[in-house]
Formats: sequence, C-alpha cells, structure tokens
Amino acid sequence: MDTSKIRNFVIIAHIDHGKSTLADRLLEITGAVEKGKHQEQFLDQNPISRERGITIKLAPVRMKYKGYILNLIDTPGHIDFSYEVSRTLSSCEGAILLVDATQGVQAQTVAHFHSAKKQNLKIIPVVNKIDMSLARVEETINQMTEMFGFDKNEILKISAKTGENVQNLLDIIIDRIPPPEISNSNSFRALIFDAVYDDHRGVIAYVRIFYGQVKKGDKVNFLQSKVSTVVSDVGYFSPFLVSNPNLSEGEIGYIVTGVKNIRSARVGDTISSDSDANPLPGYATPQPMVFFGIYPKSSGDYIKLKEALNKLSLNDASLTIDSEYSSFLGSGFKVGFLGLLHAEIIKERLKNESGIDPLLTHPQVLYKKEKEQVLEPYMKLTIYAPKNYVGGLMGLLEKNRGLMENIVYQKDNATLYYEMPYSQLLANLTSDIKSISQGFASVDYEIGGYKPADLVDLDVVVNDTPIDVLSETVYKDEAYHKAQDKTTKLKELLPRQQFRQIIQAKISGKILSRSEIPPFRKDVLAKMSGGDRTRKDKLLKKQKKGKERIQVHSRIDIPQKALFSLLED
Ligand code: GDP
Ligand code: MG
Repeated sequence: MDTSKIRNFVIIAHIDHGKSTLADRLLEITGAVEKGKHQEQFLDQNPISRERGITIKLAPVRMKYKGYILNLIDTPGHIDFSYEVSRTLSSCEGAILLVDATQGVQAQTVAHFHSAKKQNLKIIPVVNKIDMSLARVEETINQMTEMFGFDKNEILKISAKTGENVQNLLDIIIDRIPPPEISNSNSFRALIFDAVYDDHRGVIAYVRIFYGQVKKGDKVNFLQSKVSTVVSDVGYFSPFLVSNPNLSEGEIGYIVTGVKNIRSARVGDTISSDSDANPLPGYATPQPMVFFGIYPKSSGDYIKLKEALNKLSLNDASLTIDSEYSSFLGSGFKVGFLGLLHAEIIKERLKNESGIDPLLTHPQVLYKKEKEQVLEPYMKLTIYAPKNYVGGLMGLLEKNRGLMENIVYQKDNATLYYEMPYSQLLANLTSDIKSISQGFASVDYEIGGYKPADLVDLDVVVNDTPIDVLSETVYKDEAYHKAQDKTTKLKELLPRQQFRQIIQAKISGKILSRSEIPPFRKDVLAKMSGGDRTRKDKLLKKQKKGKERIQVHSRIDIPQKALFSLLED
C-alpha cells in the first residue's frame, strides 16, 4: 500500500455540534454507504456493535475518494473514555474541529482542541450549521481565531445537514492532513485503539499499523500483557469487517487476535512480531475511578447478576469486579467503573440484556494511603461560560473544594481552569454548574493525580447493629451535616417495632447524631375500668420491662424497601 495515499483522521466537537451528521455525509459522498441507509445498516449488520448494546461510538470506517484511502475513526464523546480517545488520536495524523455556528465554542471544543494539539495532529477548523437562521458564522470564526490562533481563511464553513461545502472538506482533508510517516523498519508493530469480543472469533483488536505488515497466520506478541498468539484474520472497516490479505504501515484495520480474554489485548497495547521490541508510547492501564456495590434486589437473582456481569466484562476490559458481602443486602459485587456514565451504561445493559435491575450503593472514589495520609483523586476542570456568570461559578466551585488555577477572558466569554476532588462529580457538580449559569456554561475535565484529604468513616448504627451499606467515607467538615441527614432519613423510613430503635451516626465510636423511634405502645390499660392506681402502675411497669427484654434480644431488621429508598435517592 502506498502510504502517500492514506489519510487517517478524527472528527472532534462539543456534543450536538454535528459530528455524527458530518460522518454520515462523508460516507455518502464517498459512496461508502448508500444514501439514507447508513444508520440502520450499521447497527443491524455489525454484530460487534450489536453485541456492545449501547453505541458509545461507531466503528471506524475506510472511505475511498479520488484515489485516496480516508480512514475516519470515531471517538467517544465522553470524558469517562478519555484514555481511549487519546489512543485514537495518536492513531491519526489529523482532526476536524467542528464548531456549531449557533452555539460557538464550548468547553469540549476547548478540551478537544488541546488534546489534538498535544498529539501533534493537523487540525482543520470547521464551522457547521451555516444553513440555520440562528447561525452566527462570523462571530464563531472570530472566536476560533482568537482562542486557538487559526487563520481566518483556513476556517471552512459547512452544513453537515444539507451537505453544503462538505465535498470541499474532503479535498481539504487530502490537502492538509499529512500522510502517515514512512519508516525503514520491517518488524511489525501496531497500536490497539479499541478491542471487542466476538462470541465466535474471540478478541478483535482495532489497530493502527506503525511499522511493517501483518497477515493471517503470523505469530504476534502483545508487548504489555506479554501474551503470544497467532493471527487468524486481518482486514479493514467498510464499516463492516472486510477481510484483506494483509495490513501494512500507515493503515487502519482489524486483527482477529486468537486470544479469548479482552484483558490480553488492552487499548494502548502494542502488537508486535518481535517479543522484545519497544512498545509504542502512551500505554496506561485504565484505572476505575468510581466504585459501586451492586446487589441483586432479591437474593434469588444473585447467580443471574453474576453471570450478567461476567458477560459484560468479556467485552469491557475496564470493568473490575470483586465479590462483596453486606450483612443487610447479602452477597453482591464491588464493581469499578471509568466514571458515572460508564456505570450508567452498564446498569442499563444489565437491565436490557439480562433483565436485571440491581441495587447500586453509594458511589465511592478510590482513596490511596500513603504513609499516614489518605489521598483522594483530583481532576482538572475546564469551564467555559459567558462572562456574567463567572462570579456565580467561582462561588460554586469554591464551595465544591475547587482550587482556581487560571481564568482566561475572551470578548464575552471566560474559560475557568480549576483543580477539584473527583468526588465532587459524584455530588451533582455538573448539574449545579448548569443551573447556576442557566445552562450556558459547559464543563470538561481530565483526571489529575492525587492529593491529601481530610476524611473520616461515618458509620450508621441501629441499636448497636452497624448498617454496613449506609456507612460512607466523608470529608471531616461535612461529617456532622451528613450524620444528621442520615439519622433523620432513617427515622422517617424505618417502621415502628415492638421495641425502641435508636439510630446513631458515629465516627470511630463517637456519636455525631442520634434519633429515636419509640415502640408501639400496647394499650395494656384498655380493659381496665375504674381507677386502681397501683394496679395500673404495676401493669405499665411490667410492660416497660418486657420491652427492654425484647430490645435486648431482638435483632435489627431493616425492611429492604427502606434501604433501597435510602440508597436510590
Ligand atoms: P453530535 O452529537 O456531534 O454527533 O451531533 P449530531 O450529528 O447528532 O447533531 C446534533 C443535531 O444537530 C442533530 O439534530 C442534527 O440533525 C443537527 N445538525 C447537525 N449538523 C447540522 C447542520 O449543518 N445544520 C442543521 N440545521 N442541523 C444540523
Ligand atoms: Mg453523535
């Protein structure tokens, strides 16, 4: 294959700026799919996409145009998958930066621009939706020149919907994006930017070939997972998998690896002909950021839940699953996710594909212990908003333990850069930002290291029985408030019993908050008529003693419904 005829690129954009619509037009113009048939064909005929359930992103696609091979790789538009995105970017030479002319630049535009820059991609700036009456084309162009240093006349104006100027864009892709670099190496090396599990064929790696070539029957090695295997098929994406005799330098395609475990073919790993070659740069094992306890709502569903989770993990190397036991919910799992969206997707798939609606406990981040200090994960936030919301946003961010790094003002807008504990994302940060800015601010973030945190374990106890699933690690200065909240809610939710229930929230045995539910008072005096005072007193005394006895011997029985509503609010 003549590498000078290859162009590898991505489309990057803020959500809803038109990425999918533009991809559709490119496929139509190049004849990769028939007009209008694209979506259906794709989702119905690609078994892998079907297997994946929710489409986080589309498969890569290879288009032919004027004698060139154009490879478009889609990237998931969500930060939970930022590592995958970085591996996809480093598989390409160029990026189309798409900006909606009715919205202008937004937070993800800024973030994507910087990551594409970091990977040294050639960026083609494009303004989209110029057909709309609300389009502010010139204003958007000015914004892009000011913020990113583009030249006015390098910015292309298109409508992905009507197709206006999209053909031009194809010519510009060929013109401006450099072809893959030629190497002098014959030993084969490829970067995995995605991997899927197929029931029949095992793990299929989506790769960019950097050196040499690969064909069916070749013995290859995964340099990070240190697994060796024999290639059983190679090919490219039409977007359906199309077998090809070989794949060579500069190309993007798939390798049916022959391995069964997706953890042997992780995103970012290098497949190589030579087991002691240097791995391609940038590999990292994806770290789960958010952990949930996942329990079946009835214990009879435990096996079903276990099987369903195992099935999902066949296709998702970033899920971590461990057994966990709660004295109140029974056997369950501690599951690690890349972020809240990832968790949401998995929960959705459990429901749709296996008919299970499990209970998720409070999310927690993963703390680290270093000497005597507890460290928590931080993120770097980028917030982009009209100037008049800056004051309100700063107040909110400070309340959320944000540390300001920088503010950059453009004409009417400002970009705020903050560091903040990742855990704030689990506490409604994004929706608070939206509401304080009336929807105008947009947020993006990346994971950014660990810092010391002042944390305590807040335990919830009812009559001396610890309720494990309600215990939580919290910030020390929020512990009192949270303790109050938990005891008040439990008091509302727990039904009365024959005995007195004392609800306490404690830190290392010290009581922070306490509430009490009195027992039923059986009306022992009801049958008595008249007024024998001493007899009445005697009866009441007896009743009290009885209660004390019950209280000592009874075990706390919290109705599942009460627990569910405490966890699910
Ligand atoms: P994505 O989230 O970036 O993939 O955005 P989509 O491609 O899903 O587009 C978001 C919405 O904008 C959809 O309703 C599209 O039909 C619409 N849209 C995309 N491009 C254009 C365009 O050029 N003109 C108009 N009028 N609408 C567009
Ligand atoms: Mg889309």
